Amino acid sequence: MGTCEGQTGEHIASEVRTAHKLDKISKRLEKEKNLSDTLLNSMFPRSVAESMRAGEAVEPLLEGEVEPRDVIDMLNQLYYVMDHLASHFNLYKVETIGDAYMCCSGLPTPTEQHAQNVANFALAVRECVHLVESPVDRKPLKLRIGIHTGHCMGGVVGTLAPHYCLFGDMVNTTARHESTGMEGKIQCSSVLHEHLAEYSADSKGPMYNFTPRGYVDMKGKGQCYTYWLDGGSEYNGLAGPTVISELRKQVKQLLRQKKWKELKIFKFARRASNASTLGPASACSHDLGSITTESTTTNRDDTIESFALDELVGKTETDAPTSSMSDKFFNGVDVDVPVDDGDDDDLSNHDTVSFIALKKTAWSHIKWSPDLSRKDLVDAIHGLLSSMLWKCSDDVIQSRSDVPTHKEFLDQELLRFVDRISTLYNDCPFHSWTHACQVTLSATFLVKEYHKTKDEFGGSFDSHPFVRFTAVFAALIHDVKHLGVPNAQLKEEGHPLSEVYYQGSYLERQSIQVGLGIFMEEFTELSTTVLELCPEFIHLVTSAILATDISNKETERKVQERFDRVIVATGKDYAVTELDKTQSVVEHILLLADVGHCSQGYDNFLIWNAAFFHERFQGFQAGRGSDPRQEEWHQGQIGFIEGYIIPLAVRCNTLIPQCKFSKGSRRIVRKWKIDGKDYCDKLVEHSIEAEKVTTTTTSSSTTTKKNRKRSSGIRKMFFPSRKSLSDGYVTPPKISNSRLRQAKASL
Ligand SMILES: [Zn+2]
Repeated sequence: MGTCEGQTGEHIASEVRTAHKLDKISKRLEKEKNLSDTLLNSMFPRSVAESMRAGEAVEPLLEGEVEPRDVIDMLNQLYYVMDHLASHFNLYKVETIGDAYMCCSGLPTPTEQHAQNVANFALAVRECVHLVESPVDRKPLKLRIGIHTGHCMGGVVGTLAPHYCLFGDMVNTTARHESTGMEGKIQCSSVLHEHLAEYSADSKGPMYNFTPRGYVDMKGKGQCYTYWLDGGSEYNGLAGPTVISELRKQVKQLLRQKKWKELKIFKFARRASNASTLGPASACSHDLGSITTESTTTNRDDTIESFALDELVGKTETDAPTSSMSDKFFNGVDVDVPVDDGDDDDLSNHDTVSFIALKKTAWSHIKWSPDLSRKDLVDAIHGLLSSMLWKCSDDVIQSRSDVPTHKEFLDQELLRFVDRISTLYNDCPFHSWTHACQVTLSATFLVKEYHKTKDEFGGSFDSHPFVRFTAVFAALIHDVKHLGVPNAQLKEEGHPLSEVYYQGSYLERQSIQVGLGIFMEEFTELSTTVLELCPEFIHLVTSAILATDISNKETERKVQERFDRVIVATGKDYAVTELDKTQSVVEHILLLADVGHCSQGYDNFLIWNAAFFHERFQGFQAGRGSDPRQEEWHQGQIGFIEGYIIPLAVRCNTLIPQCKFSKGSRRIVRKWKIDGKDYCDKLVEHSIEAEKVTTTTTSSSTTTKKNRKRSSGIRKMFFPSRKSLSDGYVTPPKISNSRLRQAKASL
């Protein structure tokens, strides 16, 4: 083997090795670069990532000249202004990502005005953000705004931080209109332009001024024709030049008062300014100008498909748009609030409940007044929750000094929360906002009675002070967005909810996620306080609401087992924790409150029984579930009360011995056995009449009209107005007008 040759061979081999090595390194470099690109893109807005890659001037923003604190401060002001305007124009804020702000109209509450709301909001925002200064150059901010209208799907997703999200092409299209827009301008899609032009058919002239922009290349969309929305015309009473300049003055005043600084959430944000999350936030200020505003339509004359989508966001498909149902119902029930003697703590002290009849009442008399409007009910429920909350937290406050003292602000948040929840209940015959009120009122009664009993159990029942607020809160949200058909039906239909909540109890899980999600996301100050005071809050609310799915045998078994173990067998050497006890108490309070009408007054039972029959019948008419008339409704109710209600009432008697729940349900079933059959015949009779009304009036009208007619027809029969109550169909509740007047006078 020649050395020379060997050396050459060696040399070549080494070069090949080096080449291999270089190749490997360059491949690795490429890989690393891709990785860092991906990272960069996921952390920063695209434009910032691009300038960072190109080595352009992003640095001044990230370090040095701009204090992170200033950026957060600016974003707080910006969002404060936008939130203020969003609520002014009736928009729902979907989310903010960095400096991008997405909101919509028409969701979750449908409105015919969605297109105008969004356009008006965009105009006001464009004007008012000038009042906020950029932390970089102290110049007024300018935003890039994109607006569009279309269909989308909305729903709460996520388990850790439940979030109301919008899905669908509409969201992307809107985002494209924003990203291809220009600073200080509002880019409007041709669809929305058309929509707005329709509304501009005022006899005086157009309400909006547009300039066509022409075709714009949008990623994934191709060439889209767009318009610049220049402004509202003088005919536009909500966003004309004069109105907008008035609004601007208002916002200026608000900013000058630094109202936003009073909110604790913003203090939290400032505290977080040391955290690493700030990178994107400050980088965003470089990219300032991306606001996305969105609009959705809720037209009723759509395809089946869009009905399904609508349903996910909680609209029922057969209902007339007005809340006539709830209005009627509010006008048909009687209110009494449990007020006990000696216990000077709560209800009567709260001024918002001043219109509620104040009298000693028993479990069997709990019902709402016919004179309370929806807003009154919101105020009343707020009064109940508020008194419960302060009762809970005052106990804790005595031993803590760091509890927030701005009660007034929290109380306002609580009021807004109750109001928000009230609008999310569907107009179902049974699972409605009125049902929520009835259950909340009943839960309040039970909580109060429960707290009277604790001494009799030698202090062993001295549970968490938050039993009060937790139980009443759970009652408020427990059926929110209920669709008026049972879980089993949704399962059979393969309804989207059954896929989202594959663990079962779809409706209950939806209510939990919507109710708690909104509480956590939109009422940050209040929910933070509640969670600080009661870290088990979410756990307790969740388990109580899940327990109300009484068709779920597994849940039922667990709930009963827990009750037997921690309440009945207290004192035996089980490892019973305080949390176990609290959980079982809250579960049973909500369980009994939810079916309260089965152990309260007989007239109350009849009203809710008819409502439930109506709900099932309405479902049947819509092809969702069996015909309740074919069932042995009369016998079914007896079975339900004897098989479920009485055992539950007996358990609750253990918990609260002074109230004779089981006595109440036994009395109801006795009476029902005697005259329930006739009542059921009437229910069936009226449903047949309702069907006749439907078939004779609908031959030429649209489906929507048909449904509307049908609903209002049948409603009138099941829920007669007070005038027609005299026909004796439903035993008229004893109207407590005089008592109300007395109570008002005595205040
Ligand atoms: Zn319920």
